[in-house]
Amino acid sequence: MSLKEKDFEIYEVVQNELKRQREHIELIASENFVSREVLEAQGSVLTNKYAEGYSGKRYYGGCENVDVVENLAIERAKKLFGAAYVNVQPHSGASANLAAYNSILMPGDKILGMSLDAGGHLTHGYSVNFSGKIYKAVNYGLKENGYIDYDKVEQIALEELPNVIVAGASAYPRIIDFKRFREIADEVSLKAGRKCYFMVDMAHIAGLVAAGVHPNPINYADIVTTTTHKTLRGPRGGMILTNDEALAKKINSSVFPGCQGGPLMHVIAAKAVAFKEALQPDFIDYANQVVKNCKALADELIKLGYKLVSGGTDNHLILVDIYGSVGITGKKAENILHSVNITCNKNAIPGDTQKPTVTSGVRLGTAAITSRGFKEDDMRKVANFINDALRNYENEDILLKIKNDVVSLMEKHPYLED
Ligand SMILES: *Cc1c(COP(=O)(O)O)cnc(C)c1O
Repeated sequence: MSLKEKDFEIYEVVQNELKRQREHIELIASENFVSREVLEAQGSVLTNKYAEGYSGKRYYGGCENVDVVENLAIERAKKLFGAAYVNVQPHSGASANLAAYNSILMPGDKILGMSLDAGGHLTHGYSVNFSGKIYKAVNYGLKENGYIDYDKVEQIALEELPNVIVAGASAYPRIIDFKRFREIADEVSLKAGRKCYFMVDMAHIAGLVAAGVHPNPINYADIVTTTTHKTLRGPRGGMILTNDEALAKKINSSVFPGCQGGPLMHVIAAKAVAFKEALQPDFIDYANQVVKNCKALADELIKLGYKLVSGGTDNHLILVDIYGSVGITGKKAENILHSVNITCNKNAIPGDTQKPTVTSGVRLGTAAITSRGFKEDDMRKVANFINDALRNYENEDILLKIKNDVVSLMEKHPYLED
């Protein structure tokens, strides 16, 4: 029996969500559209299998097929990122970070990460997150021009002597200088007389790294963590990579049994499928187009009078100072844009004077719409839809016209249609 016949309530929600995804311009920088093949693997019978442990060393029988799946996922990820050791079991990016910290830190040790309001992630030491409760957390931010203040990172690091320095962000539009971070971690190690690890969380930029569009951190960092569902365009999940054999062993036992139980074998299969896709030449074209589209969006918005944090972008996202540009808060802009079928999220900007639930900015990303075939011309249209909506939000007729234009643009860029 089909889901439609057996559970219409859930079936209907899934159909409504597909319709929403088809008809909206998706600008949430952490989202993407996976292929039918990724969906097929993730929706497979592999979900039925318990496989605690690792290939060849499982705690359950009958793992001969899932062992093949996990080995393929690992081999493909190694090739994709030039890493010697990979753990594909973390359920999410946050779980990957938990396991990574747990492999190198003791409770009470110190993390130096980017602050949340500068674009860092909750798991980089935020007070309400496990990372800010189990560990002592200190953070670094940006210079006034919106770039990471590397000199300040160095100064704080040498004062605080953290056990790990974390680079990587959820809302940073520029290339990250991994070499500089590595040098700072080495200076700390020397001064402290013990190891200061350098960890990179490339959750947002993994797809760009895989395609060579952003520098690869693997030869600078002791540990690299990532999600698989953002620019990498795989299923929702996490992963940990390293080139250090001893560390790889610690990471494996930290993931299981340290932090997780049974791996999600259906998701690991879907990760393997996504990695194979990312190893194809057309994924390089995709990643390049993501960045070109983002620059086109940035340029057009600047032309229309908007201020961007750091003045532009090197990657898949931009941060727009909406309040400083048109006098509307991030929250209000998110709502106005939602009403014309443009999906994005409000985001704090450096030195934000609005509350975190309100904010002055919005974060816009191009990974998802580039998967739908958008090119630079479409991006200029998107910038104008945004501008027209934000400047005319009290005019219902104009909003309705923009919404109709958005829907007809999206109809030219179908998703999962046979
Ligand atoms: C998205 C993100 C994560 C968390 O990923 P989840 O899968 O949502 O847990 C961790 N770190 C960074 C930098 C991220 O952007």
